[in-house]
Amino acid sequence: MGMFIEVSVRDPDFLQTDESRKLVAACAVNIFEPAEEGVAVNRGQEDECTLCGRCLEVGADRLEIVKLYEKAGQ
Ligand code: SF4
Repeated sequence: MGMFIEVSVRDPDFLQTDESRKLVAACAVNIFEPAEEGVAVNRGQEDECTLCGRCLEVGADRLEIVKLYEKAGQ
């Protein structure tokens, strides 16, 4: 799990779909990796997130990029 960023999956079923496989190509820092069905979040990579938003174009409201560093400051 990342210290600064968490990729929160609001709809876990989404990661089992063929559509979710687009996430692997969308993320340049390998936070999504192919799984047996669909994709998995590589928790060890989360802090590499550049906040580019490309995964959100694929996953829309089924994913959320949580900025843990903002929560820590509250
Ligand atoms: S915002 Fe960009 S870098 Fe971060 S997880 Fe999504 S695609 Fe990857």
